[in-house]
Amino acid sequence: MIRVAVVGGGAAGFFFAANAGRAQGIGVEIFESAAKPMRKVLASGAGRCNLANSLEDIEGIISNYPRGGGFLRKVFRAFSPKDAVAWFERHGVKVKTLPSGKIFPEEESSALVAEALEREAVKNGAKISVNVCVSRIEKSAGGGFEVFGGNSKTGGENFFWRFDAVLLCCGGFKDGALRRSLEGLGHTVSELAPALYALKTSPRFPNLSGISVRGAMLTFKNENKRKAQGDLLFTFKGLSGPAVYKLTSFFAREFKRDGFKADFFADLMYSQGSERGVSEFFRSGRASFGARKILNLRPECIAEKLWLEILSLAQIPSDRVFAKLSSAEERRIAGYLTRMPFKSEAPDGGEVVTCGGIKNSEVDFSTMQSKIVKGLFFAGECLDIDGLTGGFNLQNAWCTARVAAAAISQKL
Ligand SMILES: Cc1cc2nc3c(=O)[nH]c(=O)nc-3n(C[C@H](O)[C@H](O)[C@H](O)COP(=O)(O)OP(=O)(O)OC[C@H]3O[C@@H](n4cnc5c(N)ncnc54)[C@H](O)[C@@H]3O)c2cc1C
Repeated sequence: MIRVAVVGGGAAGFFFAANAGRAQGIGVEIFESAAKPMRKVLASGAGRCNLANSLEDIEGIISNYPRGGGFLRKVFRAFSPKDAVAWFERHGVKVKTLPSGKIFPEEESSALVAEALEREAVKNGAKISVNVCVSRIEKSAGGGFEVFGGNSKTGGENFFWRFDAVLLCCGGFKDGALRRSLEGLGHTVSELAPALYALKTSPRFPNLSGISVRGAMLTFKNENKRKAQGDLLFTFKGLSGPAVYKLTSFFAREFKRDGFKADFFADLMYSQGSERGVSEFFRSGRASFGARKILNLRPECIAEKLWLEILSLAQIPSDRVFAKLSSAEERRIAGYLTRMPFKSEAPDGGEVVTCGGIKNSEVDFSTMQSKIVKGLFFAGECLDIDGLTGGFNLQNAWCTARVAAAAISQKL
């Protein structure tokens, strides 16, 4: 029997234990620092669990990982997101696919996903120890590993166990003893930063909370002129939606280095051709609706409340008729439509994954085994891999864990 310590009872840890156990000659013990395992799985997709994405073309899938996607090619060839979804269906979680490609349990319940994983892990003979924080992993003189830990409530390091192999799947890395221990074994943890969050902004428009703009483009004002395109959602404290998630994901490290402060502007008319779309709006408005009040005529992609806000920002009198708009007034409206300025102030919740982790080049992705320490395996978010919203993060956890399970089952 190969004894494997699983450090972290989250998505990857449980998928591993549900796929490797007694039948493969593997004895699994999961160490989880929280009182309840799989907290992130339960919280995922606001309790609905967007467990995967329906994209099947590998290049298309990996383009949704701002970091580490290329390393997942091998993993997805061995065990694809589609295979992961089929696994859940075989184990009692029927799924549905939304037009966006997001896959959810049919009953939109993350608890069903967690229950299936725990049931299979227990069936496979996994031992689950909660409230145990692993602080250190060391190579044992006689081969294998010594794993040190303590009660996560009382602190300290008062337990010690021997294992033949270790799967590290502790989720997003934090600075601390475990990180230092991995570095002591020769591994590198790349620069860490939160990714994939909404933004508190200035200005903010609480009255517009819930209003979205289809296909907006966000552009940094600095010399890099970095961009992110997608739907934009006004929130009580700032901005959210796919465009903001892309911005805070692709530029996660830049945001953190700058204390989350960045100047950017939103092109709300990007889906209508930006300036060209604005000119066309004014041209057809003047030609066909010259006598109409400007507040009663707006571009197709702009919701009524947002239009009123833009007219107020541009200081357009509410009774101005279309034909009487001055060119200076048109320019002010066009400015807010295509270059609405924002300053980000801080993250404002959201999916939140960690950018950064164990350096991918130190891992053999055909087995998920460390290239530096034989018998040490990695899976999930502890690697320098993170995806956009859409199920990409959980499918990273499932698929890397499954490849590790297969490799250990083959006694690698
Ligand atoms: C609110 C929210 C919603 C999300 N929604 C989605 C979604 O819908 N779809 C999607 O694809 N992704 C989603 N994600 C991201 C996704 O949940 C994670 O990427 C995924 O859970 C990572 O799996 P993991 O096993 O690597 O880490 P985790 O699931 O985070 O598990 C790691 C576990 O290790 C434990 N641990 C950490 N350190 C130690 C230690 N030293 N000793 C013992 N235990 C330790 C932690 O307590 C944790 O339980 C969401 C994330 C959040 C926060």
